[in-house]
Amino acid sequence: MAPGTLAERIPKIHLHCHLEGCLRAPTFLELAGKHGVPLRYTRGGEGAARSAQDDNSPYAFADLDEFLLLFAAVIRALRDPEDYARLAREFVEDALAQKVIYGELFISPSVWTFFNPALDVRATMEAIVTELRAAQPRATFRLLADLTRNFGAESAMATARTMAGMTDLDVIGVALGGDETRFPARLFGDAFAYARSEGLHCVAHAGESDDHPSVRDAVERLGAERIGHGVRALADPATVELLATRRVALEICPTSNRLTGAELPEHPHPFVEFDQLGCVVTIDADDPAIFRTTLEQEYALVERVAGRRALERYVRNAIGAAFSDARHKQAMEAQVAATVAELHARPRS
Ligand SMILES: [Zn+2]
Repeated sequence: MAPGTLAERIPKIHLHCHLEGCLRAPTFLELAGKHGVPLRYTRGGEGAARSAQDDNSPYAFADLDEFLLLFAAVIRALRDPEDYARLAREFVEDALAQKVIYGELFISPSVWTFFNPALDVRATMEAIVTELRAAQPRATFRLLADLTRNFGAESAMATARTMAGMTDLDVIGVALGGDETRFPARLFGDAFAYARSEGLHCVAHAGESDDHPSVRDAVERLGAERIGHGVRALADPATVELLATRRVALEICPTSNRLTGAELPEHPHPFVEFDQLGCVVTIDADDPAIFRTTLEQEYALVERVAGRRALERYVRNAIGAAFSDARHKQAMEAQVAATVAELHARPRS
């Protein structure tokens, strides 16, 4: 067998991956056609998005705002538990093909029911989890429920309560995505405190479209154990120090950050900088289908820019930052170690 690169061979970990954002483009087209829903969603009605469909992909967008609307359009095409089962089944196929061994996946149930109030959330969760569990023993997947900033504090609390009742369906925590600028962390303190009191883990997107105080608030007000993106924290040494000192892992998604404009021009490779500043860096793909990337491609990008040792460190960091028990982490560590040893042992041609 050809030895390949570390990015190809290494067992992979998803810590920042939205399940709905994994919907394959052809499946999106098929489901939208089947249900008669448009491929685009705009606030306040239907219509064309600002950017033209310039490359024949249903997944073209111009900036973060337009991406969020596209993400909503994707969810609108998922109408019933069978659609979600297909989403999860195809996700598992794609994940196993890339040697993904573990994932904590975001789901956005409040967006599901926004578009489809009649959706049976428990039946949908059961459909998803049945498919995800089929990946065992090769891979284990668990769920983090996004409380979704855009729907406000009350909705976030309601979602947290619903999800606290679904730990039997592999829900292990709550997350916070959506419009960071208009819906700041302080609105969600109660929902996160409630989730924590129910034994759920807490993570949050921050420092993606808003500046470093948003990252600090996510850590201090919400008790976020990991930060999604966080790239804008690089503008403030004190926030970076907070992340480093508290060992709050950063989930860096290079292609996502470039395409949504989250990345600060003066910090083109946030993963390298955070790593050098003593932070815990992990790598993921965010919404791989919509960003037209894969976890393996993100790993390859990182290996090219930062080198094999750095990629290996980021994968080990992800195992360390996962909400898994010590025994499972050791088993994953051993899989990574075996792959690395194999690559080092390969005869040089
Ligand atoms: Zn995300």
